[in-house]
Amino acid sequence: MTDFTMETGADGVAIITWDVPGKSMNVLSLEGLSDLDRLIDAALADDAVKGVVITSAKKDFAGGMDLNILARMRDEAGDDPARGLFEGIMRMHGLLRKIERAGMDPKTLKGGKPIAAALPGTALGIGLEIPLATHRIFAADNPKAKIGLPEIMVGIFPGAGGTTRLVRKLGAMAASPYLLEGKLVDSKKAKGAGLIDEVAEDPVAAAAAWVLEAKDADIVKPWDQKGYKMPGGTPYHPSGFMTFVGASAMVNAQTFGAFPAAKALLSAVYEGALVPFDTALKVEARWFTNILMNPSSAAMIRSLFINKEALEKGANRPEAPDQTVKKLGVLGAGMMGAGIALVAAQAGIEVVLVDQAQEAADKGKAYSESYLDKGIKRGKTTPEKKEEVLGRITATTDYAALAGADLVIEAVFEDPAVKAEVTKKAEAVLGEDAVFATNTSTLPISDLARASARPGQFIGIHFFSPVEKMLLVEIIKGRETGDRAVAKALDFVRQIRKTPIVVNDARFFYANRCIIPYINEGIRMVGEGVAPALVENAARQLGFPVGPLQLVDETSIDLGVKIAKATRAAMGDAYPDGAVDEVLFWMADQGRLGRKANAGFYAYDESGKRLGLWEGLSGKYPEAEAQPDLQAVQHRLMFAQVLEAVRALEEGVLEDIREGDVGAILGWGFAPWSGGPFGWLDMLGAPYAAERCDALEAAHGARFACPALLREMAEKGQSFYGRFGPGSAEAA
Ligand code: NAD
Repeated sequence: MTDFTMETGADGVAIITWDVPGKSMNVLSLEGLSDLDRLIDAALADDAVKGVVITSAKKDFAGGMDLNILARMRDEAGDDPARGLFEGIMRMHGLLRKIERAGMDPKTLKGGKPIAAALPGTALGIGLEIPLATHRIFAADNPKAKIGLPEIMVGIFPGAGGTTRLVRKLGAMAASPYLLEGKLVDSKKAKGAGLIDEVAEDPVAAAAAWVLEAKDADIVKPWDQKGYKMPGGTPYHPSGFMTFVGASAMVNAQTFGAFPAAKALLSAVYEGALVPFDTALKVEARWFTNILMNPSSAAMIRSLFINKEALEKGANRPEAPDQTVKKLGVLGAGMMGAGIALVAAQAGIEVVLVDQAQEAADKGKAYSESYLDKGIKRGKTTPEKKEEVLGRITATTDYAALAGADLVIEAVFEDPAVKAEVTKKAEAVLGEDAVFATNTSTLPISDLARASARPGQFIGIHFFSPVEKMLLVEIIKGRETGDRAVAKALDFVRQIRKTPIVVNDARFFYANRCIIPYINEGIRMVGEGVAPALVENAARQLGFPVGPLQLVDETSIDLGVKIAKATRAAMGDAYPDGAVDEVLFWMADQGRLGRKANAGFYAYDESGKRLGLWEGLSGKYPEAEAQPDLQAVQHRLMFAQVLEAVRALEEGVLEDIREGDVGAILGWGFAPWSGGPFGWLDMLGAPYAAERCDALEAAHGARFACPALLREMAEKGQSFYGRFGPGSAEAA
């Protein structure tokens, strides 16, 4: 069985069909690539073939490239991996260029065979780069189709000619949302944007008809014609100059230079625009090789593509029959409860939303209504869908309405007594099999489970705010939580299309446990006289979406004070020194409670717009004359978090480092280019990481002490993925 097959009709049109055996979605493998190469050669050599249509037998065209191809190219090249990659990429360019030139005479540009692409649905990555090399792209009118080049999202960029061709087709400005943001569109929008050429009811028939009619001139790409001018201009053209200066400024403003792929992409576009097409492909291949050789791309692909998908597919799901949720109870219709009700109803689940007063329950449901109204305005949903989703949510004060729910999630006040009361009330009406979950952020699950008559069916399902936006859900096992409850939580997270991690019960679970030291280290530095702007920019330049001071403004300073007081009470003498609390409590005393008070570490105008760092801070905490260098600040921010992740692994809170990495990036935006805390430590190497811990401990205190596990790994020369990654002896 091969991935591509070819059949030539009596009309002389050869239909090449992509249909990877045993898969629901086509993905390009090395074998597939040589199949396609062989078939194109055969079609070009066969006099009976007048033209070619490349299509798919599946409902979509293709999901992209099997990213293991890249690893194979690198590994098979032995001592010179960069050469292996470059040559592999150039072979791919060779094939696509062969499709584009289609056997025409390079001087007269005559005598080539028309080749068209017919896309039934989704066409991503190489699944669009192949069509871009054909002479005309037809797509079915399929609103579910996703068409685009999402490579940048996993730390690479379109490196099979997609970058060079799209920029020459649309111009750098128009191509930038597709290349730099990985924007995906349906077929109609793709035609509007010029990504594809035609939307047709039957794209294969339309493509075949076009192929038979096409003249020599129809199959010469603009960039192969004399006098071709790039739309919008090249870098030395006045309007092109504006585009390139603007694009470079925009990319740096958004990424703070923390994403090597965005920079490399811009370089490939800029340099490629200055040279002829074939040289531009070579330039693209060199920058693509450069990015693939950067450890960041492998780390990002591992966490954001391979491991994220593995977790979503249930890599850590215990054996248990299907636990799909049919009816969900949500207790507490506040900020979190309202969001949970929305995402569940959107996933087709019947929801009962309970609060103390009908007014509060209705308000929670109204959140879904206003969210969906905004969606209608933006063309993301329809009035019919809105009614359908709202029809699934019952807002009530009556616990009896929970009867028949197979999962309940409580999101009432963060108070053990209130939580105990609602647990009992709900369990009184629930069936024996129902699972009860708490969305608590700070209270131990095993303690809350004491209120339950069935602690084996009691679990933590911890959402992040805002629920509808945040991709991660942290599932927490209490001491007595059973396998079926874990499977239930995982099946529910799959239904609402989020990414789960499963951790054990310990103070702040995993995500908050790492976020709090990040915030605290930032606040501590302010107390020491480090310039707040240096702290914030150091974080942004690491790729964090928000600096620690902005983050605490968002989550509110009084919440920080509350957590600090509760933690101090729980930890007693083990509580770290009060340097952070001093700054935090002082801010609270000043009434600077964060964004909600329009006053925090940042200043805000009346409408809540963030203006800049609050100048009054320097009255109390003047900036020291000697400031630390950028890397010193960055290492403090990074180590504060990653050492917490290592301790979570050491203590068994984390059972799988993949969850630690994926959870960090999706949960709080941990430097995505690093692949996560363990990915970053592997980049540093355990010996250097341990050395840095010692230096940081000597300079700043015991919180940076090297965990025993990291010390041992440094001595043995081990890496986290080598020792704990999938397939290793200690993998969970
Ligand atoms: P909230 O104050 O916005 O909402 C709580 C809701 O619970 C209110 O509507 C209240 O009327 C209702 N409630 C209180 N007692 C009740 C009872 N006996 N029966 C029914 N309803 C009752 O709070 P929130 O921010 O949505 O947080 C809820 C829970 O989620 C807390 O445990 C919190 O720790 C957790 N959490 C919050 C966040 C966040 O960012 N806010 C993130 C993750 C988890």
